[in-house]
Amino acid sequence: MAKVIDGKGFAARVRGMVAEGVTGLKARGITPGLAVVLVGEDPASQVYVRSKGRMTVEVGMNSYEHKLPAETSEADLLALVARLNADPAVHGVLVQLPLPEQIDEARVLAAIDPAKDVDGFHISNVGLLATGQKAMVPCTPLGSLMLLRDHLGSLEGLEAVVIGRSNIVGKPMAQLLLGDSCTVTIAHSRTRDLPGVVRRADIVVAAVGRPEMVKGDWLKPGCTVIDVGINRLPPAEEGGKGRLVGDVDFASASEVAGAITPVPGGVGPMTIACLLANTLTACCRANGLPEPEGLTA
Ligand code: NAD
Repeated sequence: MAKVIDGKGFAARVRGMVAEGVTGLKARGITPGLAVVLVGEDPASQVYVRSKGRMTVEVGMNSYEHKLPAETSEADLLALVARLNADPAVHGVLVQLPLPEQIDEARVLAAIDPAKDVDGFHISNVGLLATGQKAMVPCTPLGSLMLLRDHLGSLEGLEAVVIGRSNIVGKPMAQLLLGDSCTVTIAHSRTRDLPGVVRRADIVVAAVGRPEMVKGDWLKPGCTVIDVGINRLPPAEEGGKGRLVGDVDFASASEVAGAITPVPGGVGPMTIACLLANTLTACCRANGLPEPEGLTA
């Protein structure tokens, strides 16, 4: 049976390291600040923003929440981003996606100061990551990399297959694995013989958004599986909420893999922990101080 990788416990450890870093900065009279902007009332986004705010305060940082009505114009949102870019108390700026349709997401992401872009979505950060330079790295792939390094130590020379080529998860994940000297394959919806491709991998990262798609008999025995997917199954009973599952069929995969992240409790908690880590990193960089150890790519 595979070892179940405890993302929840590891995320708590990461938040503890961030809190230590914040204590050190406060002793120098600096308090890191994270601004989160939410436009509209998307229920899932409201939940994310609330927990981001709570955890930001828990690690000792300042949290600035900006809630704007759904009908906010692009110009008003861009004006707020410009104010946050210029505010020295704000070290990280995150605009919660998705945005209402009257707002061009790409234009808003491009307006965020790359040095404060704690989501790592600005094309400057995408380019820095792709060329192996110091970047702000997207939180979910960064958290997945930390779990892999913690479990495997060096990743050098390992065969990694990333399933999914999104800008948020798949592509940056592949860049990070390449940075750690894996041999990387990116598979996607047009890949031929996906099970055959996955069977080569020592490391499988599934970021597809299809419930329990990756089966145990697709896996090389002993491989490490990072399941990024978060899918809610239809409720079994009327009024029920429906079970959360990943992109990997946990029951069959855990018979074959050496280690696997569960859903929930795997990659999910690492995402917010890495957002806090990125905010600490941004604050250290802004103040010309050394970056926190173990919290960057
Ligand atoms: P996305 O929809 O942008 O991308 C999905 C990718 O999967 C695409 O590149 C597509 O080519 C590929 N794909 C689709 N069907 C496929 C198939 N049948 N075979 C092979 N590849 C296929 O999704 P995303 O934003 O990258 O998110 C992926 C999953 O990760 C979702 O379930 C999402 O909820 C989850 N997610 C989790 C976190 C977290 O914090 N844990 C963060 C972001 C996303």
